Amino acid sequence: MAFGRSKNSEAAQQSAERRRREDDAPRLAAIVPELGELKLEIGERRLGTTVSHVRRIVVANAPALFVLTCVHKGCEGGGHDITRELVAALKRHEKRFVGSSACQGTIGPDSCGSALEYVATATYHS
Ligand SMILES: [Zn+2]
Repeated sequence: MAFGRSKNSEAAQQSAERRRREDDAPRLAAIVPELGELKLEIGERRLGTTVSHVRRIVVANAPALFVLTCVHKGCEGGGHDITRELVAALKRHEKRFVGSSACQGTIGPDSCGSALEYVATATYHS
């Protein structure tokens, strides 16, 4: 049986795919049971300025999956998957750590190359 696909449903499909990945991912609390709070400060350079925002992770039911979308409109196939390095640092019980990622997506014929930096702060139960 084949399901019809239209251009309009592409975005819906992407968010469904994302939800499925989040559902399939192990829970953060299962991987790092001692984790108390987790906060991410995310900064992205765009047009010479840095746009930053803070994301508080609800540890109790958060999936161990950290994929941030690219801020550039028109970027295809981009985004930042910081899951592996983030989970590794949490397993080491690091209280504050920084990382960066460059977008691998493309905008038209050009590579996006949007740079993202993050500062993660975490607390742990002893
Ligand atoms: Zn991008």
